[in-house]
Amino acid sequence: MSKPNILLIYTGGTIGMIKDFKTGVLKAFDFKTLLDKIPELHLLECTIETVSLNEPIDSSNMNPRYWVQIAEIIESNYASCDGFVVLHGSDTMSYTASALSFMLENLAKPVVFTGSQLPIGDLRTDAKENLITSIQMASLQENGKPLVKEVCLYFEYKLYRANRTTKLNAENFKAFASLNYPELAESGVHLKVNYEHLFKPDLKKPLLVHKNLSTNIALVKLFPGISLAFLKSVLATPNLKSVILETYGAGNCTTEAWFIALLQETINKGIHIINVTQCAGGSVMMGHYETSNQLKDIGVISGKDISTEAAISKLMFMLGQKTAPEIFKAMYETSLRGEMSQN
Ligand code: ASP
Repeated sequence: MSKPNILLIYTGGTIGMIKDFKTGVLKAFDFKTLLDKIPELHLLECTIETVSLNEPIDSSNMNPRYWVQIAEIIESNYASCDGFVVLHGSDTMSYTASALSFMLENLAKPVVFTGSQLPIGDLRTDAKENLITSIQMASLQENGKPLVKEVCLYFEYKLYRANRTTKLNAENFKAFASLNYPELAESGVHLKVNYEHLFKPDLKKPLLVHKNLSTNIALVKLFPGISLAFLKSVLATPNLKSVILETYGAGNCTTEAWFIALLQETINKGIHIINVTQCAGGSVMMGHYETSNQLKDIGVISGKDISTEAAISKLMFMLGQKTAPEIFKAMYETSLRGEMSQN
């Protein structure tokens, strides 16, 4: 049986950074040097091809145009590769990986995002383990076919469903968490795969790559004391199509009359409002408390237990698809790529 062929896509981030010894600042370096730094890669039971963005970036500079570039690299190598590993800065990795999960419909091969907290050249780096195990995860096969068929994120011994992750820690090697969905696999002495939690796509359908993403959206995090003037100015953003409201706890907000009236007015203009929780774990349950009942009554969409990162990319994807207003709410409240629990 031939070895799996893995494409390593380098976009930037700490994993490929070196220190400028004059200034002490970390900056991206040439990808070819990255592979030289890890001769162990040659021991893996797979073949590895590499491709890099023309100019690797710190992921704080990520945006949907780069998401399309990554999707296009996967699309043009989809037939010849068995799996993909995307090296990406950890800061916005959950956003990019979530976006790719929506852009790559009917994905039947693994796309594993990884990065590191310390540069690959650092003595105590976490980059080597993350990179090597990500490639192993992407190489897993069952009856000659890829075992994992979804966009994932691998960091510090855990493989997660990408659109369930959030970066929680800027210091620990364990930087990510997936509080609303169990991990897909764990790396210990053995690689332990949680088969029952893997996404099961319809294998009869071909890969569809969606490249239209709309950025006419806003994200508003509620805070005690939020003012009418602030909210009004956000909602008056030209060409605004949809707003994500990060509410408290199980989807709760102030019941002050001006707040609900302004949201109602916004919905009447055809702007979708989505309720997601500020908490890293748990779900929106509109109607559970009095402080969310009115949101339900005026037609606010429930983001259920979706992460903010996945909520944003799902919204850009659905608006880019020109999803009809009549079905928008029902579709947003439906899990498309395993990004939210049903009910
Ligand atoms: N600032 C870096 C980035 O996101 C941090 C990292 O790679 O972990 O590109």
